[in-house]
Amino acid sequence: MADSIAVELSEFVSDPARIVTAPRVLDRLSHDFYWYSPVLRPKLAPKVADVAVQPRDMDELMAVLGYALREKVPVTVRGAGTGNYGQCVPLRGGILLDLSLLDKLETITRDGVAICQPGLRLGELEAVARAKGWELRMYPSTLLKASVGGFLAGGSGGIGSVAHGGLRDFDTVRGFEFVTMEEQPRIVAYEGEAVHEILHAWGTNGILTRIWFALTPAIEWTQFTAAFDTYEQAFTFAETIACGRNWTKRLVTVFEWPIPDFFTPIRRFVRNQKAMVLLMIASSQIDQLREILASSGGEETFAGSYDGPRTQPLLSDYTWNHTTLWAMKADPAYTYLQCGFSGASCRQQFQLLRERFGTEFLFHIEFMKNGKGEIYPGAIPIVRFTTEERLNDMIEYCRSIDVFVANPHVNYLEDGGRFRPDNIQLRAKQKYDPHGLLNPGKMISFQKESSGR
Ligand SMILES: Cc1cc2nc3c(=O)[nH]c(=O)nc-3n(C[C@H](O)[C@H](O)[C@H](O)COP(=O)(O)OP(=O)(O)OC[C@H]3O[C@@H](n4cnc5c(N)ncnc54)[C@H](O)[C@@H]3O)c2cc1C
Repeated sequence: MADSIAVELSEFVSDPARIVTAPRVLDRLSHDFYWYSPVLRPKLAPKVADVAVQPRDMDELMAVLGYALREKVPVTVRGAGTGNYGQCVPLRGGILLDLSLLDKLETITRDGVAICQPGLRLGELEAVARAKGWELRMYPSTLLKASVGGFLAGGSGGIGSVAHGGLRDFDTVRGFEFVTMEEQPRIVAYEGEAVHEILHAWGTNGILTRIWFALTPAIEWTQFTAAFDTYEQAFTFAETIACGRNWTKRLVTVFEWPIPDFFTPIRRFVRNQKAMVLLMIASSQIDQLREILASSGGEETFAGSYDGPRTQPLLSDYTWNHTTLWAMKADPAYTYLQCGFSGASCRQQFQLLRERFGTEFLFHIEFMKNGKGEIYPGAIPIVRFTTEERLNDMIEYCRSIDVFVANPHVNYLEDGGRFRPDNIQLRAKQKYDPHGLLNPGKMISFQKESSGR
């Protein structure tokens, strides 16, 4: 099967080196960071595509999709493969469509909208944008590797979300063109509200090929770290910065001890047994920040300018889901959850979790803005994995005390916590991928409807 697909594809792809069948490369391209989840690890490790193909332009892309449609071969798209839940792991074999060569930045418009192909790396866009007086509104901590298309299709937010909300908010994704898998693949253009049909649908209902991504005017940022005797002190300080309208911030992160102990490369900024706050704050506000830090009982442990994605140290490398990576390096028994606490009652929620799970559940907070403009403590807690049942216990308990959980230990959209309740992604799949060829198995409501269950 793999050989025959590869032979057929060689008709449409000019360079055979861009049709991959070598088992080790195919295995690498078929996987992302699914191994973050001890539950998904054994399930997804054996899943692999028959062939990977790297189209160089839209003609090749359309020809490959035309072939897949005629022969009813599944197609799973890959950006940079930094997703966490096996989002780009092909469950039913077929073609792995690697879009990393479709990486052109067409332009940045005068009003700050980047028009680009999906394979463009976010770090590249941030660097070019900053040179022109703009910057990304928000980005995942995988900034250097992750692609714009993969972020739109699989990500949710990140550094910058404390000011600009998640990817779905505030018209950040202005529009895109995507390819459908109807009777003939065709390009459809969406803008405004319609984008939500395809956004964060893991490439199950369309393949993004051209993107209009809104930026924001660049700011001179300072990266800043502080240590506090207790988590409560650290949280209160961070909350003041995050919620205070006068503070210009890009990142407000809080870690309880022992999480900072995992950050070996920046160990010199860590204080033994102490909680830690990481910030990106406007450089013009550093003096004010030092004043309120002094009255909050914190100790400044580092301040340095952010000069773009290649800055060293880059504090974002320790935040968002990079924190989990450092924890797993320190102790492979750690894994994570993705939560949202209530701004008003988070302290009670912290206390209830502490009483119930002790240090099995470690607090890692990332402040975010929601679609209504309210700031709240998002979180990617580090949790100790013992059994799947215990992990599910934690998730259920969180939900029972109104802590939102997007479950990162499932491999389908619906339970990941970000599926639209109005089902518009499912309706778009029925319309644009009626044969269920795009990333099959990842939108289970489609499978259920198709099989009449
Ligand atoms: C250490 C670490 C830290 C992370 N931190 C964050 C974070 O802060 N915030 C966050 O949101 N995420 C985070 N992630 C998850 C991930 O890095 C981001 O979502 C990233 O933007 C994914 O981009 P990618 O190019 O690697 O996408 P991929 O992993 O290649 O793809 C993601 C999904 O999108 C689909 N896809 C890719 N390209 C297209 C396209 N052109 N059209 C349609 N579908 C497509 C794929 O099929 C897959 O389902 C983190 C992951 C890791 C491992």
